[in-house]
Amino acid sequence: MAEKSEILVVGGGVAGLALATRLGKTLGKQGDARITLIDKSFSHVWKPMLHCFAAGTVQNENNRISFMSQASQHYFDFWPGEVVAVDRLNRKAVLGPFRSADGSVVLDGRTVDYDALVLAIGSCANDFGTPGVAEHCLFIDNLIEANGFNEKFRMELLRAFGANAELDIAIVGGGATGTQLAAELHKALDLVRLYSFEKNPPKLKITLLEAGPRILPAFPEQVSEAAQRELERIKVDVRTSAMVSGADEGGFTLKDGSYVPATLRVWAAGVKAPAVTAQFGGLSLNRSGQVIVQPNLCSVDDERIFAVGDCSFIRDEPLPPTAQVARQQAHHLAKHVPALIRNGTAVPSCVFRNKGAIVALGDYNGWGTLPGGTVFGGGLLNGLSARLGHMMLYRQHQVELYGLSRGLMSCLADWLDTLVRPSVRLD
Ligand SMILES: Cc1cc2nc3c(=O)[nH]c(=O)nc-3n(C[C@H](O)[C@H](O)[C@H](O)COP(=O)(O)OP(=O)(O)OC[C@H]3O[C@@H](n4cnc5c(N)ncnc54)[C@H](O)[C@@H]3O)c2cc1C
Repeated sequence: MAEKSEILVVGGGVAGLALATRLGKTLGKQGDARITLIDKSFSHVWKPMLHCFAAGTVQNENNRISFMSQASQHYFDFWPGEVVAVDRLNRKAVLGPFRSADGSVVLDGRTVDYDALVLAIGSCANDFGTPGVAEHCLFIDNLIEANGFNEKFRMELLRAFGANAELDIAIVGGGATGTQLAAELHKALDLVRLYSFEKNPPKLKITLLEAGPRILPAFPEQVSEAAQRELERIKVDVRTSAMVSGADEGGFTLKDGSYVPATLRVWAAGVKAPAVTAQFGGLSLNRSGQVIVQPNLCSVDDERIFAVGDCSFIRDEPLPPTAQVARQQAHHLAKHVPALIRNGTAVPSCVFRNKGAIVALGDYNGWGTLPGGTVFGGGLLNGLSARLGHMMLYRQHQVELYGLSRGLMSCLADWLDTLVRPSVRLD
């Protein structure tokens, strides 16, 4: 590699920002390489919180990390922009024009050179080509979409209140995203009641549609059953084995011919890589568009390109698209890329260590699983341990990015904020 290598990280999500921060503190600080992060937005959010932003139960202003600020403090560069292609022959990432909110071009399209490229562009929900979904459904794959959903949610609540009617919301996908969103929306309405609508808010009807035989299929059956019971207790209509065959402006059609009317329709099922991976110079992709990598996270086609997190797929050992996997892969590259740059030492295989999984249904309940199959939470102090565990994952991420003292101050600031602001987004 060149004397001062250019390492380009595309995507500042769970994996990309952790990686850029760690590489900045080693290679960047010592001047051995220039680390550049590119992201299509200006700030990082912890994606597992998007359903809370969508419901308005967590204020996203406090939970964004500015890429520019993070870069300036951790010895890496940041450029805003969307990578639209990779020119592998000339080792350049191609960025489209950067536009302001009104659509005017602020930065022309440009290219950025690399010696090593790390793709960390995440994923989005997969509608599997189901007719009408792209046109008639809302998605919560990023902050813009989560905020857009929240705006619509608040407006439709107001409309329902004015009309003395019930607001019906249908969510497709009984995985962690859909299940947690259903609970969080219910919690939001509980909180809204504290502030207005004459303490008598409109009624909310939430339907959760899952094609498989149970919700939360990645968890043990007892968690699926308990979560379904909990959702039904708060009056969420959970329908399993409910395959959606189409969507229109009024609701969803199921494969059995029935129709689920819904004013707001959310698609939270399936996972695929962003479509742009098809423009990455012919890199091998799987059916979901994820970049196929070797166990050491290097593309099977190009030794200068790595892929981590949701946009990657390890051929012989597929891993689930979770924050835990994304973090471990980022840590692995952060540990081994310095030796690659300095001495040409190959990056070894990344061994995933399953530390368990956690799901939290708002403030109502939560469950976790440990690697041995042990289930905790659910009933124990109303699942408090699992809900705390879920929160701790986020705090751990903050501390990792900010450092201990700033991370702890940020926790304190968040807590103080809860004393000042309403506990649900109202404007
Ligand atoms: C609502 C919700 C709840 C979830 N809950 C959990 C949970 O409880 N536990 C768990 O483990 N996982 C959870 N997940 C999954 C988890 O969030 C992801 O697995 C994780 O964020 C993947 O990290 P990543 O770095 O691969 O991608 P991301 O964190 O998605 O980051 C991708 C980044 O790439 C940027 N980007 C995308 N395309 C481009 C481009 N062309 N050019 C430049 N930048 C680009 C994006 O702006 C973004 O910053 C949840 C996901 C959602 C949506």
